[in-house]
Amino acid sequence: MNRDYYEILGINKNASEAEIKKAYRKLAMEYHPDRNPGNKEAEDKFRELSEAYEVLSDPQKRAQFDQYGRVFDNNGFSGGSGSYGGAGAETIFEEFFGDVFGDFFGSAGRSRKKSRPTRGGDIKLRHEIEFEQAVFGCDIEVSVPRIVECTKCGGTGAEDGGIETCATCRGTGVIQNRQGLFAITTTCSSCGGTGKVIKNVCKECKGEGAKRIHKKLSVKVPAGIEDGMTIRISGEGNHGRNGGPAGDLYIAVSVKGHKFFRRDGRDIYLELPLSAVDAMLGKSIEIPTLEGKDEIKIKPGSQPGDVITLKGKGIADVQGYGVGNQYIELKVIIPTKLTKKQKDLLAKFEADSNEDTYKTDRSLFDKIKDFFG
Ligand SMILES: [Zn+2]
Ligand SMILES: [Zn+2]
Repeated sequence: MNRDYYEILGINKNASEAEIKKAYRKLAMEYHPDRNPGNKEAEDKFRELSEAYEVLSDPQKRAQFDQYGRVFDNNGFSGGSGSYGGAGAETIFEEFFGDVFGDFFGSAGRSRKKSRPTRGGDIKLRHEIEFEQAVFGCDIEVSVPRIVECTKCGGTGAEDGGIETCATCRGTGVIQNRQGLFAITTTCSSCGGTGKVIKNVCKECKGEGAKRIHKKLSVKVPAGIEDGMTIRISGEGNHGRNGGPAGDLYIAVSVKGHKFFRRDGRDIYLELPLSAVDAMLGKSIEIPTLEGKDEIKIKPGSQPGDVITLKGKGIADVQGYGVGNQYIELKVIIPTKLTKKQKDLLAKFEADSNEDTYKTDRSLFDKIKDFFG
């Protein structure tokens, strides 16, 4: 249900830059507000097109969209607290540790990178919310399993400054071996290329210089968010190394279904069971809406599958591009168990019927009758 930028522009996923531009130009001309004065729908459509173009014409934003879908930047969390253990309800399904993980945990061979500022890895969580929470927006609590710098040793992995220059390589991190005319340089295996050896290993992080915590965050979910959309919180990913920035936190939101509403983007659908007699005679009927309830009029002679539209009773767009509609689909129930008396009454009803009784707007009935002669 997630509105897709490719779909909005009517192009396929591997469209070239030129194709994207061409598609946008064509549609933007059609829906330009100057050409559609006072047309709210065209105005929304134009804004949607512009957003789609803005993202897909930028290679970086496009790559992000391909990976995460529509992403909402959100830094509206109300602070957080670090605590050990106790992961929340959300499940972590991908972690992008990048270089940081290699540097932090093992992989001594790569430690020559240690002096270089490295951006922390991104963390991706999935979080499920209720239908109504998506419609009206909400605050969710997430517990983020983050890698942070060990505060006890300041990320060095050594306690009480217990770091010494590596004796094997004399701090250079490399060993030179002469082989004939050539000097072959290899990474020092004693210190893993860092040039330093930890004498007094930090007990807190066992020399890793980093540890895992669960950080609790309160995150604002915008009203109108759709299943599969992603919220990004910059700087709440893993800790950066050597002064590098922290990674970002991505929360992929999945939205639960509703007891009786079905959602399609900004629109919601309600299937309304209706007795055959109510459909024939018409009736005022109370139906549930997102805001509570509403009374609608069933026209006499309503047909199965007829749809009643409640304009503007749908879901507000997550980015303010208008509000959707509520559609009520009539499901006319034909009685299945009739008493003798009911059968007699219906037989009388049928005897009293003529062609006019069954005339519908659609006259499909007539067409079929014509077909059989
Ligand atoms: Zn430590
Ligand atoms: Zn060494």
